[in-house]
Amino acid sequence: MAKINSIGILTSGGDAPGMNAAIRAVTRSAICNGLKVFGIYRGYKGLVTDEIIEFKSQNVSNIIQMGGTILKTARCQEFRTAEGRAQAYENMKKHGIDALVVIGGDGSLTGARILAQEFDIPCIGLPGTIDNDLYGTDTTIGYDTALNTILDAVDKIRDTATSHERLFFVEVMGRDAGFLALNGAIAAGAEAAIIPEFSTEVDQLEQFIEHGFRKSKSSSIVLVAESELTGGAMHYAERVKNEYPQYDVRVTILGHLQRGGRPTAHDRIIASRMGVASIQALLEGQRNVMIGIENDKIVYVPFAKAIKNDKPIDKELVNVLHELSI
Ligand code: ADP
Repeated sequence: MAKINSIGILTSGGDAPGMNAAIRAVTRSAICNGLKVFGIYRGYKGLVTDEIIEFKSQNVSNIIQMGGTILKTARCQEFRTAEGRAQAYENMKKHGIDALVVIGGDGSLTGARILAQEFDIPCIGLPGTIDNDLYGTDTTIGYDTALNTILDAVDKIRDTATSHERLFFVEVMGRDAGFLALNGAIAAGAEAAIIPEFSTEVDQLEQFIEHGFRKSKSSSIVLVAESELTGGAMHYAERVKNEYPQYDVRVTILGHLQRGGRPTAHDRIIASRMGVASIQALLEGQRNVMIGIENDKIVYVPFAKAIKNDKPIDKELVNVLHELSI
């Protein structure tokens, strides 16, 4: 196996708080271990268009506390084509980059996997997404911060919901995963969560109403995961207006504010641990794996597993929310 002397690092897809902490950790750990580091701007786009500069330790000073990503992120159609990836490979060769660390979600890791297969380049993925939807890791970089942002917003909505005795549907992100909605609902003391994982099993609105909605409550808050499978908060608000016109219904879509903000301690710590682990993995000869954390231990998850498998929702969480919302 060829020795690795130099690595490239990029952030891709949806941004997530804690990505900067990961960039810092990868850069500094690589330098500590005698490797050269190149920062690649705008995800795969920068790899294709050669927006690549060498990073020293100072390039990542004072960023651990910042949301977003200093490397910027982008979605790159060209990288989905064989020609685009060939151009990316040429640029890597030009700079002498032997391996890549990719921080991003499902799509970004899919791109890394394909590039690794086509050009035999070691690639390591770090799970950077607020959605927590990558298999093989208990949590992803950005998820805890987004959860806390949701909590803060829902606490505020609760004040007005209680004062007016209203039913609020609050839409949160998650793509096709319900982790933010379900755990957000538990943490905020919401009455229910409507999540895509159960969209075909039961009518979650019927269940919520039957479960005794407003029996003893002056207000109710339901978190709805944005997803075509659930139809989103608007869909449920319309249904309630039609089927239960006695209720005073409002909708709040939290939107992009969920992506921003200073990363929590938890996200900074896992990003730092995963960043250091990505360099260790490369030095150990690992390739084409995502770094995960399971039971507080670093694990290597083959890309194929991380991308292809659906991460299951723990039914115990559903029960916790159900019992506590009486
Ligand atoms: P995320 O990483 O947050 O899931 P996307 O799904 O938008 O975000 O993916 C980010 C980028 O990864 C895409 O813009 C594209 O450049 C690359 N990518 C995603 N899927 C593929 C694929 N099947 N082949 C090649 N590149 C891909």
